[in-house]
Amino acid sequence: MFLIIMGPPGSGKGTQAKLIADKYQIPHISSGDIFRQAIEIHDELGKELQLAINKGHLVPDDLTNKIVERRLIKDDCKNGFILDGYPRTIVQAEALDLLLEKLEYRLKKVINLDVDSSIIIGRVSKRLLCKHCGTSFNLITNPPKQKGLCDICKSYLSVREDDNYKTVIERINIYEEKTKPLIEYYYKKNILCNIQGDVDVKEVTKAILACIER
Ligand SMILES: [Zn+2]
Repeated sequence: MFLIIMGPPGSGKGTQAKLIADKYQIPHISSGDIFRQAIEIHDELGKELQLAINKGHLVPDDLTNKIVERRLIKDDCKNGFILDGYPRTIVQAEALDLLLEKLEYRLKKVINLDVDSSIIIGRVSKRLLCKHCGTSFNLITNPPKQKGLCDICKSYLSVREDDNYKTVIERINIYEEKTKPLIEYYYKKNILCNIQGDVDVKEVTKAILACIER
C-alpha cells in the first residue's frame, strides 16, 4: 500500500499518517524525521542539508529528492509506506514518480486533508495586531484582506506574546504557493482522496480508510 498524505501545516496529517501506518503495517515516512536523521549521521547529504537550513533557506528540491530516495529504496518499503511532508512541490512529485516507476511501486492514493488556512490561523489566535502601524484585526469580526498581512502597511500581523504566529503564517504561505498545486497534479492522475480535515480525528480516519479502500 503506497500512500501519500498532504495538507496544510496544522491540519493534523502527522497524527493521521501514524494511524494509517499502524492500520496497514507500513512505515510512516515523515520528511521531518528523515531530515533529522540525515543531519544526525552527518554524511555528505546531511552536511548539505544542515548548510541549507542554517542559511534559513528552503531545502532545495534536488537535495530533498536524494535524501528521500535513500530512504524509499530500503527493504522495509517493499510492501508500502505512507509519505508525510513529501512531495512538497511539483518538481519533487515528478522525481517521486520516476523513482516509483524505477522501483515498480504503484501509488495507490494521495490523501489531501482539506482544512482552510484561515481555520488554522484561527487556532493560533483570533486577535491580530500589526506591530508596525498598530492596526488591529480580528479573524472573525474584522479579518485582514490578505491572510496574515496588515491591510494598511502589508506587514505580518502578530499576536501579543506569540512568537509562533509568524512561523505559522510563513509555512501556510509556502504551502499555498508550492504544495497546493499538487492537489491538481494528483487529481489528474485519478488517485486523490480529498478529505475534510476539520472534524473529529476519528471521523477523519474513517473517511481516509473509506477512500483508500474504494
Ligand atoms: Zn500595519
